[in-house]
Amino acid sequence: MSNIANKITTVRQQITQAAHLAGRDPESIRLLAVSKTHPAEDIEQAYQAGLRHFGENYLQEAEGKIHALSHLAIIWHFIGPIQSNKTRVIAELFDWVQSIDRFKVAKRLSEQRPQHLPPLQVCLQVNISRETSKSGCQPEDVDALLQQMLPLPGLCIRGLMAIPKACDDPAEQQQVFLALNNLLADLRNRHACTTAPLDTLSMGMSADMPAAIQAGSTLVRVGTGIFGPRLTPSHPS
Ligand SMILES: *Cc1c(COP(=O)(O)O)cnc(C)c1O
Repeated sequence: MSNIANKITTVRQQITQAAHLAGRDPESIRLLAVSKTHPAEDIEQAYQAGLRHFGENYLQEAEGKIHALSHLAIIWHFIGPIQSNKTRVIAELFDWVQSIDRFKVAKRLSEQRPQHLPPLQVCLQVNISRETSKSGCQPEDVDALLQQMLPLPGLCIRGLMAIPKACDDPAEQQQVFLALNNLLADLRNRHACTTAPLDTLSMGMSADMPAAIQAGSTLVRVGTGIFGPRLTPSHPS
């Protein structure tokens, strides 16, 4: 087995273990492989090991890989900050966009999603730790943003995504993840419908996956744990 296949086995075991500890079905947690900075060959190895969902942060880098791997049935997630002048390419190439944090971007993605494709599956990114340097809308603004997005065609609103402030204490990690879970539960009570199933809680990365699963994550985004350390960043951000 390849190194990547071995790492995926380990990550899957960690997911299963965390799910059992939480009394949850491991099948209810989707594994998204975050492949930023890693080459198409590594993605193909992860695909051969059974993964189908892959996440990219940088549009230019992603475009090349998506074209190179178009023979595979990959479900691509855009998870990086979005410049509003780049939405057309995102709307054309990706299946999911997890990093919507303002209406302008949502509206453009809706208008630019090609008619022949299924709706774009989207999550609203929440700045759950209220870090000034981080993207994501403020927790108190999520409801209004969702309300504004509900009528937009071409989008299916799946839930919330967050990248909490880095922290080593699992109990503290879990508190933050529970806050996001509560926020989604609240939105679901008020707004769930066919175009907004609100069934996705995208939280947990290599360093805080167990705490996220304990707090109800349905989608963990794992980069380092699958592909190893990120290769030399070739990007400004
Ligand atoms: C890079 C990244 C990840 C993966 O982080 P790791 O710590 O390498 O697992 C997850 N989510 C987002 C939004 C990222 O940018």
